Amino acid sequence: MDVHNVELTISAVRPDQYPKDGLPEITLTGRSNVGKSSLINTLINRKKLAHTSSQPGKTQTLNFYRIEDTVYFVDVPGYGYAKVSQKSREKWAEMIETYFAQREETCGVVSLVDARHAPTKLDQQMINFIHYYELPLLVVGTKIDKVPKSKWNKAESQIRKGLHLSGDDQLQLFSSQTRYGKEEVWDWIEKHTM
Ligand code: GDP
Repeated sequence: MDVHNVELTISAVRPDQYPKDGLPEITLTGRSNVGKSSLINTLINRKKLAHTSSQPGKTQTLNFYRIEDTVYFVDVPGYGYAKVSQKSREKWAEMIETYFAQREETCGVVSLVDARHAPTKLDQQMINFIHYYELPLLVVGTKIDKVPKSKWNKAESQIRKGLHLSGDDQLQLFSSQTRYGKEEVWDWIEKHTM
């Protein structure tokens, strides 16, 4: 998609704060620092609309970006940042569970993992959670520019295996530096929202 019109519509914690216009939503998840803000900015051709976090783990709201009046990207705060208190973790989990359990506008989830490493336990828990809600899933392996091409197959199978992906789950390697995979991610989003 050629994106011209984007606004950060709403930062929400509770359902009564979510947008009310009924547009389809694509939800983005991943651990802190995985490259989620960079991916959002790459998709919408902006340098820094989505906030690249100088303090990882700080944002604890769902951020709804309204894209071209056709879809919302729902940016879920990153997980796995060590310095977050137990109480914040619980709040985070409650916010995410409430969103997935109630939100009918969700059409699919884009889940980011670092393509350079095996998925973490928390990555796997996030995927289990998405499977539980039976939502269409695109896993994106980020920072692929840092992996030599000869190892891309290995990176893919490491992700598939580590996350126990099913045949229905799609996997796309991605780089916000080279924009590799951008079209494929957009194709998936359009297929599930339009
Ligand atoms: P977030 O916390 O998930 O939103 O991650 P950010 O988008 O803020 O990125 C975290 C760090 O990884 C930043 O230093 C980015 O410049 C870097 N980064 C993000 N995406 C890529 C990528 O595709 N390739 C490389 N080499 N670095 C990336």
